[in-house]
Amino acid sequence: MTGPNETRVTLKPCPFCRGEARWVEDHGRFDEPFGLVVEHAEDCFLGNRMMAEWKHIIAAWNNRAAQSDLLAALREARGLAHAGNGAWRKIMEHGFIPDAASISAVQGFLDRSEALIATIDAALAQHGEG
Ligand SMILES: [Zn+2]
Repeated sequence: MTGPNETRVTLKPCPFCRGEARWVEDHGRFDEPFGLVVEHAEDCFLGNRMMAEWKHIIAAWNNRAAQSDLLAALREARGLAHAGNGAWRKIMEHGFIPDAASISAVQGFLDRSEALIATIDAALAQHGEG
């Protein structure tokens, strides 16, 4: 039988999570998936058959690839913003005393990153993440 591997068909990723799709030949092993095999994200509607609560099912259904990318970017941005704050906290805890100009700059940075984190949290909440 001619499969997609022989015909060099390019498989599109999962429309929900952009999980990579590939064609796997049947090697006759019961524990090895074959055919169209997709690496779904943990919260992908198509990849998760264990969702019991309607809220999770509906959230997964409404979570499409573009939104997944946005949510991933927002989560990463929140991590980076927290990391920036954490870096300053860390060096201050260890006795670093900046000069007056730096203190002002650091305070401005911390104020802006708190505002940034609040904005990111609001965007995540808007997309169903607390
Ligand atoms: Zn998926």
